Amino acid sequence: MPRSSIIHHSILHSVFGYENYRGQQQAIIEHLIAGGDALVLMPTGGGKSLCYQIPALQRPGTGVVISPLIALMQDQVSALRQAGVKAAFINSSLPVEEIRQREAALVRGEYQLVYVAPERLCNESFLNLLAQIPLSLFAIDEAHCVSQWGHDFRPEYRRLAVIADRFPGVPRVGLTATADVPTRQDILQHLKLETAKLFIASFDRPNIRYQVVLKNNARRQLLAFVKNEHQGQAGIVYCMSRRKVEATAVFLNQQRVPALAYHAGLSAEERAANQERFLREESMVMVATVAFGMGIDKPDVRFVAHLDLPKSMEAYYQETGRAGRDGLPADAWMAYGIGDVVGMRQLLDQSGADERVKRIERHKLEALLGYCETIQCRRQVLLAYFGEALSQPCGNCDNCLTPVETWDGTREAQMALSCVYRSGQRFGVNYLVDLLRGKIHSRIESFGHQQLSTFGIGTHLNEQQWKSIFRQLISAGYLQVDMEGYGGLRLTERCRPLLRGEEKIEFRKEIAKVGSKTRHYPAGTPEDPADRRLWEALRHMRRQLAEAQNVPPYIIFNDVTLAEIIAHKPKDLDELAQIPGIGSTKLARYGERILALLWDLPESAA
Ligand code: ADP
Ligand code: ZN
Repeated sequence: MPRSSIIHHSILHSVFGYENYRGQQQAIIEHLIAGGDALVLMPTGGGKSLCYQIPALQRPGTGVVISPLIALMQDQVSALRQAGVKAAFINSSLPVEEIRQREAALVRGEYQLVYVAPERLCNESFLNLLAQIPLSLFAIDEAHCVSQWGHDFRPEYRRLAVIADRFPGVPRVGLTATADVPTRQDILQHLKLETAKLFIASFDRPNIRYQVVLKNNARRQLLAFVKNEHQGQAGIVYCMSRRKVEATAVFLNQQRVPALAYHAGLSAEERAANQERFLREESMVMVATVAFGMGIDKPDVRFVAHLDLPKSMEAYYQETGRAGRDGLPADAWMAYGIGDVVGMRQLLDQSGADERVKRIERHKLEALLGYCETIQCRRQVLLAYFGEALSQPCGNCDNCLTPVETWDGTREAQMALSCVYRSGQRFGVNYLVDLLRGKIHSRIESFGHQQLSTFGIGTHLNEQQWKSIFRQLISAGYLQVDMEGYGGLRLTERCRPLLRGEEKIEFRKEIAKVGSKTRHYPAGTPEDPADRRLWEALRHMRRQLAEAQNVPPYIIFNDVTLAEIIAHKPKDLDELAQIPGIGSTKLARYGERILALLWDLPESAA
């Protein structure tokens, strides 16, 4: 092995406590160590941090990490310090005097890694500080913030191009989990990374199980999902409005599911406090608007639930990607209904954005709806959206686990479409369903619609079934919702072959619940009762250590590490050192306590 490769492997083992690199980590690390620039596209949880942390430790000088969120910086720095790395953050949360001291330490070369926000970095005085010391690299985290195409645009990121001019000899790496092509191009251009080497990882997150259910009573459905599959675990529930966030959090607490709320209407202190509790406690549910989550690094989030539709496939992927970052089984669960579709489209149309942007967003929403309604493997559809082909159905989504029942709905589709046509292409779903089912009420009479040839032709299906048909016709693009008026439906060009009988259409039967494979214990919890006691004991010890140091428990050890300890029951420090996640610093700090616990437990138990 070449010398430089021996060094970074030994950093991987001794500092981070990991045996092997994952995916492209090694290639990226070697490219940076050799002085190259890089753009790294890797899904959340893929292990981006090591890609710049290890080169920063191996190369001489200080590594500068640009990160948009203060909470994220603190978390990363605590984790690095736990591993024995000299790291610090400098940001506006600190008193002026503390900032001054840390800047002095930076100039003395005391830090191996320093984390700063983009606006501070671009500050002339800070650039001058950096010019005085050797630098190992620049890492620009969440690099997609430079792009207006995405939803996290931060104008100050555009100014980061200055680094390329001021520090031409220092390698730069941009990192992001947002992968679509327009964003990628924006990053390359605006961060002056045109000649950087691209590293694109697979976006598959095999440990996440995707499920989409049809809404009937969304809150009850959510409660059943949480109680049956995730009792006592951490999760995130996304809602569109602040009001719904509040109401859902209250509801969950009433049902004895501990939950907190997070949205932009809360004060900065409340938000910070709730976020902090969510990070620290192991079985807290965070009910939030999309304001919550960017940079949230909690590895043991066991589920992400959507009570409202996300804006796009990108948003869905990002939000669900916050589940299962530790690689253990996790769920992405979403409930959706026609009301959402209409609501989202209305919001979009009423937004002040220009037509071009609206078109993009409408297109993105349609893609998401296609995903909801698909009868294929969801993972295949999701990855295809990001340009990645998955050759086999995944076996870990609702469509794979409970094969979707379909039926030939050609005749019903024709009925629905002609009913839209004959009533003048201006009525909404509820009214149309009443027509098809031959319901007489004053509104129908006032239009004389009981005379239509399509009146009452659909009594063989119930209301829910007709609604489902309309939803699928809308998402497949046969019908368009009229946003000028009250959500009336119109035919599109796509209808012709279907109406002429030249084309068939299959529908999804009402979505069945994912059946038998429910999990009863938190992921990672062993089946064996003695092991389960050990698991609880280790978690208890971890909590105590975390509280004493005022850091979240997973910073001490994550669940994967605990599970490995239980599986291998190391007998001495050497064996313990083999456990992933235990580097030399953690071994020295906690090794004896863990061994003591392993020895003691069998006596106290039984
Ligand atoms: P990202 O920033 O890409 O979302 P992180 O860098 O936070 O991901 O890594 C996600 C998790 O994977 C962390 O808990 C990290 O410690 C772990 N991890 C990263 N690389 C490795 C590796 N080579 N072996 C084992 N665990 C790893
Ligand atoms: Zn699948």
